Amino acid sequence: MGDWIGFIHARRLASAPWGGQICEMTIVLGPGVREAMLAAAAGAGRHEACGLLLGHGTCVETAVATANVAQDPARHFEIDPAALIGAHRLARSGAGPQVLGYFHSHPNGIAAPSATDAASAAHDGRVWAIVAGDAITCWHDGSDGFEPLSYRVCQG
Ligand SMILES: [Zn+2]
Repeated sequence: MGDWIGFIHARRLASAPWGGQICEMTIVLGPGVREAMLAAAAGAGRHEACGLLLGHGTCVETAVATANVAQDPARHFEIDPAALIGAHRLARSGAGPQVLGYFHSHPNGIAAPSATDAASAAHDGRVWAIVAGDAITCWHDGSDGFEPLSYRVCQG
């Protein structure tokens, strides 16, 4: 039994896209990142706010709000593709930070991925942050689906 659990744990670590230790991984939200996400969520009102988490390694340096171009922005989010493509292009060229993940808000106050979120996840190892009221939760979009991710806030 112990061996089996050890095997699952090892397999999970081995499959971590960042070669990192998912289970023990903690991401860092840099100065102002938490506030930027809360402000975007508050500004979007009954619509879902959304945006990009940019930074390096496991440190999110900025949260950049983008337009939510979903057809029903009160229930879904879709990051403005122009902003998304632009950020990926900058990251690839080395001129910009890495696209570490995405954030969006849940006006219904539930700080966990919805069924829609699970269905639209790319399983690409990126970080998803979900804002609900004053709460922010972070998730690792791994090959087995969302796993909770601990984070700490760096005040700079
Ligand atoms: Zn959602």
